[in-house]
Amino acid sequence: MRMYDIISNKKLGKELTEEEIKFFVNGFVEGSIPDYQVSALLMAIYFKELNKKETHLLTHFMMHSGDTIDLSSLSGIKVDKHSTGGVGDKTTIVLAPLVAAAGASVAKMSGRGIGHTGGTLDKLESFSNIDLGLTQDKFLESVETIGIAVSGQTANLVPADKKLYALRDVTATVNQISLIASSIMSKKLASGSDAIVLDVKMGSGGFMETKEDAFELAKAMVEIGEGLERETVAVITQMEEPLGRAIGNALEVKEAIATLQGNGPEDLLELCLELGANMLILAKKESSVESAKNRLKACISDGSALNKLKEFLENQGGNPAEVDDLSLLPQAKFTRTFNSPTSGYVGSLDALHVGLASMLLGAGRQTKESIIDFAAGIVLHKKIGEAVKKDEPLATLHANDEKLFDAAFASLTEAYHIQETSVNSPDLIIGSVRAKDLVV
Ligand code: URA
Repeated sequence: MRMYDIISNKKLGKELTEEEIKFFVNGFVEGSIPDYQVSALLMAIYFKELNKKETHLLTHFMMHSGDTIDLSSLSGIKVDKHSTGGVGDKTTIVLAPLVAAAGASVAKMSGRGIGHTGGTLDKLESFSNIDLGLTQDKFLESVETIGIAVSGQTANLVPADKKLYALRDVTATVNQISLIASSIMSKKLASGSDAIVLDVKMGSGGFMETKEDAFELAKAMVEIGEGLERETVAVITQMEEPLGRAIGNALEVKEAIATLQGNGPEDLLELCLELGANMLILAKKESSVESAKNRLKACISDGSALNKLKEFLENQGGNPAEVDDLSLLPQAKFTRTFNSPTSGYVGSLDALHVGLASMLLGAGRQTKESIIDFAAGIVLHKKIGEAVKKDEPLATLHANDEKLFDAAFASLTEAYHIQETSVNSPDLIIGSVRAKDLVV
């Protein structure tokens, strides 16, 4: 078999065979197929696409390109949750302890931030000494004993995705639905959970800008999950404006703690209840969304979700006192307010530009080598639909280097649009895709 023929077949729009997909994935991982040939194939896939069968096969061979985690020794149904990435998305820090407090096991493999979007591992590292590189034994033992473990992916989990993603990133082939779906699902499936809840973000701050694309990606991922016998639900959510009001690692951790204390922003709570309810239903702990949401709300009001966060921190080497005393978490040396140039209403608040502003303050990575400043970021005082007076603060910026404020201000100027007429704040939950919605 020759890679040349595989590229040529896809260029002509032919369906790739199982042998061809296996040959190119394994050959690329082993190093026998060079980057330039895989780049050409990725571009052919970008234009000619993969059908459902090819996408499932690609996911299967990617998933088996390295280690897979076996959670079968753990009792109960293990449910994972994944977000396609957004700005201010700290849901995992709320959801993992919340769902664990409600009685479902959470075995969570998380990732780091990419570009303007933050990653759960980076956010959690705002807690001092937290160990997010658990051994497999410690990971399993933690889920069994306290119902929760969060860890980074092991080095050899889906090596095919690491290599393919790096190549897609530099060949303008990231934005292809089958490639995104197989990339995300191969990692979820290799992580061993029995069921998966996906949060597919739609809007400028997410991967999919349009509703149509977001539903298409959601459907592709649910089809893969169901095809490989893992019950999968995708919730499509709005990412036009950031989620919650805090953007930046320690600032987001503080907002997540406030949410577990019952004082969080409405949109973040709404999303956590929606995703959490789906997780409890897939874990067979609840049978209706309403009863599941009530159970989650009770875990917030009786303090058990917050206690679960402390238990999780203690178990993974962190200091639970940081949950009770937020001043122990990283604090920036400098703050500046970004004030409204005029009176009116926030008409739009572009998540991408807020994410970029936060990254410019040091909260995200501009290159792979960048070191994150956990204290840096932005707190939004005004979101879409809210009234503002001239010179009133729209946001407060946090940084440890005053020189970084100017570039962040410029990005926030792009993000905020103030208008004379009032607007409604956008709906957060756009829809969902479940197995029953798939056309067979
Ligand atoms: N996240 C991933 O893990 N992979 C993609 O291709 C896009 C987003």
